[in-house]
Amino acid sequence: MFNLDAIIRENVKRLKPYSSARDEFKGQADVWLDANENPFDSGLNRYPDPLAMEVKKAIDKIKGVNSENIFLGNGSDEAIDLLYRAFCEPCKDKALIMPPTYGMYEVSASINDVEIVKVPLTGEFQIDLVSVKDFLEDKSIKLIFICSPNNPTGNLMSTETIKAITQNFHGLVIVDEAYIDFALNASLIPLLKEVQNLVILQTFSKAWGMAGIRLGMAFASVEIINILNKIKPPYNINTFTQKMALDALIGEDGKDSAVTVILREREILVSKLGELPNVKRIYPSDANFILVEFTDPNVVYNSLVEKGIIVRNRHSVVNGCLRITIGTPEENERLIEVLS
Ligand SMILES: *Cc1c(COP(=O)(O)O)cnc(C)c1O
Repeated sequence: MFNLDAIIRENVKRLKPYSSARDEFKGQADVWLDANENPFDSGLNRYPDPLAMEVKKAIDKIKGVNSENIFLGNGSDEAIDLLYRAFCEPCKDKALIMPPTYGMYEVSASINDVEIVKVPLTGEFQIDLVSVKDFLEDKSIKLIFICSPNNPTGNLMSTETIKAITQNFHGLVIVDEAYIDFALNASLIPLLKEVQNLVILQTFSKAWGMAGIRLGMAFASVEIINILNKIKPPYNINTFTQKMALDALIGEDGKDSAVTVILREREILVSKLGELPNVKRIYPSDANFILVEFTDPNVVYNSLVEKGIIVRNRHSVVNGCLRITIGTPEENERLIEVLS
């Protein structure tokens, strides 16, 4: 059903992208007088590589995804915005989301004046495939966002269901795997080989411990990646970010040991929270946070704030619930102490 050419906005197809000095000459040289940079070396006086090729090669080594199938953005939030700009005609096209889910899909749609269609998740926070199917024929829906593991509920979505949606949809299915490093072997990256209308988002902001450098990844077919690269700001990944990411990718152990500790702490936190009388339910989590239903969520939230502990109050999104990020062992102990 899917035909990429049919969903690209006409202005994007016609666009002649900005060609930077770094795009036009890429070879070796000693004297660089092409980009109006300050010539005195400070380590930062030169523009960064527009396509961050070194970083992509290092990502390829770890994830087995070719550089040409990787887009890098200023956070995954930039990739989300660019997907709207590339494929959704303002005031005309739509995107489908499945609440409760990550807030940026809707905010980014609103900024781009794109209407959102909502198909709520089931009671178990799984995709309601029967209801989604009602919308798959709608030609004005160009993007479907699926968050897996989902924020704020913490659970993975069924791979079979996601596959079924891609097979019956004319647009792009975007699977946001921001928390995938906490769910071992669950990434849908292997599916990219067989599914042409799949975009997978990942980020350095969570397991990698680098929310501050703002680096997000999108994995997809060469054709889709080329469109995102065509419309991105020319130097969207700055020199610091490229360097910090490269260092982290070369020493990947740091991430893995953090994930091990966080997963162990999650288990401890779940068992201790389970003993508290005002905890009604703890939802199963495949991420670095847990969604917890309290009998008195606002009271709990406010008393935690008074003690200097901030969690995320999701009561308005999922009844009775606070979303608690797994902290260091000391932080988690303090949380339990105060809650007790
Ligand atoms: C945290 C998070 C992100 C990360 O966004 P960045 O812009 O890469 O920091 C993306 N998606 C979801 C669902 C998240 O929770």
